[in-house]
Amino acid sequence: MSLAQQIERRRTFAIISHPDAGKTTLTEKLLLFGGAIQAAGEVKARGERRRARSDWMKVEQERGISVASSVMTFDYLERTFNLLDTPGHEDFSEDTYRTLSAVDSAVMVLDAAKGIETQTRKLFEVCRLRDMPIATFINKMDRETKDPFELLDEVEQTLALDVAPASWPIGMGRDFKGCYDLIHDQLILFDRGKGDSISESIKCQGLDDPKLDELLPDYAVEKLRTDVEMVRELCPQFNLKDYLEGTLTPVFFGSAVNNFGVQELLAGLADFAPRPRAGKALERQVAPDEGKVTAFVFKIQANMDPKHRDRIAFVRVVSGRFKKGIKMKHVRSGKTLAIHNAQLFLAQDRAVAEEAYPGDIIGLPNHGNLRIGDTLTEGEMIRFTGVPSFAPEILQKVRPEDPMKAKHLGRALEQLAEEGAARVFKPALGSDWVVGVVGPLQFDVLADRIRTEYEVPCRFEATSLMTAEWVEGDPREIKKFSDQNRASMAVDHAGAPVYLARNNWHLDKAKDDFPSLKFLKTKEEV
Ligand code: GDP
Repeated sequence: MSLAQQIERRRTFAIISHPDAGKTTLTEKLLLFGGAIQAAGEVKARGERRRARSDWMKVEQERGISVASSVMTFDYLERTFNLLDTPGHEDFSEDTYRTLSAVDSAVMVLDAAKGIETQTRKLFEVCRLRDMPIATFINKMDRETKDPFELLDEVEQTLALDVAPASWPIGMGRDFKGCYDLIHDQLILFDRGKGDSISESIKCQGLDDPKLDELLPDYAVEKLRTDVEMVRELCPQFNLKDYLEGTLTPVFFGSAVNNFGVQELLAGLADFAPRPRAGKALERQVAPDEGKVTAFVFKIQANMDPKHRDRIAFVRVVSGRFKKGIKMKHVRSGKTLAIHNAQLFLAQDRAVAEEAYPGDIIGLPNHGNLRIGDTLTEGEMIRFTGVPSFAPEILQKVRPEDPMKAKHLGRALEQLAEEGAARVFKPALGSDWVVGVVGPLQFDVLADRIRTEYEVPCRFEATSLMTAEWVEGDPREIKKFSDQNRASMAVDHAGAPVYLARNNWHLDKAKDDFPSLKFLKTKEEV
């Protein structure tokens, strides 16, 4: 297959949702279509096996949340889908945000009884910043739900997104009969309890087709006809351009646990979801069909096996045909790496990547030389942008239980900072480290990982610090500023100066005193 054909067939996407809306269940069902798993429950079972093996994920096990995100590749309808999984819990959303920088589109899953929830909204905002195309799956139609019109209205009003129903539900809860596929004019009947099989669709000649009257109770057909009439009056028709620009979302109704409506969603993605986009580098745009391979790191994950300190860098291929053994330039260090052991993430297992194409995600085992945001090329000195960095919102001090282990702790923190698991600051005065995270649960995970992976039992303690801001500007000014504010200065893991502010007044004063300096809440990881 030519490079162009490989690009054409790829669809790289993520699912965004509020916890419990049904993301895991939908993922399982999608993989079923790809033949990637044999039975439902496999995704969870796999997760549990993995968890059982890894000590450091005890925290996750105890709290029943998923910390690690992964990649699943499967083929269906002559497409290769790369589904990037994202942790649902909000404390781990940094990972989610970075994952979103590596996909071309998203599927937004809503619980039909709840509509838009807080986490859906947050994640949607990130997608919006990138003008990312979004397909919507309204799940759990087999339960009592909100009125479908109300749900559409909610999406439109709260997200300012046009909605174009791709299917329309017939009843709900105990009376849920199925959906009418508005794109292909077909009826899909709901068969309760057939979660692992695929519902058959019945081709219809429009909504007046007498077949509908035969197959559905009178009241249901009547309601379907009036509903669809209203839908056609009230909602715009699906059009590709608006979807691709991220201003319109096709809406599918279904029930993931019953594997209902999932096939229609997947067929929709095969049909209209965007193929791999161009990469944005500081220097220029990189088109996927350029001959040379380029790629960027969007996530680092420590190996599941705590005995090994290896990490996997998750790398999105932007352009070219990646082949095993290829020599890639690591732009930040200028070093050349020969890549023999890249991994592909097949749903069932990992395999060594012989080849990979734009849109694909490969895993590169490394010992810490690859960092989030890094660019790999065949020699060109370009740097991809867009992998976000987050302002640390909560700051705590950390110290080892055994004071002799301070150095070990420092090394562990440095590695975790490189991995993107936390921001780590070394104050100019004193021997403690300050760690910044977005969600408080991250401290528990960090403490657990430092204890099990690095064998340094440690304690996190509250601080009176409000915020940490990176200081940029003329080096002489920075020096002057640092000298005057030694008690509040620190450096991050890469040695960049950071100001630790106790309160707003403190921060404002610093800014007033040194108007030429920039105070930044985040640092772009380029
Ligand atoms: P996640 O937190 O978004 O990954 O949600 P899960 O996939 O784990 O689903 C949360 C709960 O909703 C589980 O108990 C699922 O069995 C259930 N669920 C998922 N899809 C459906 C559905 O279509 N109908 C019903 N009734 N329950 C569902």
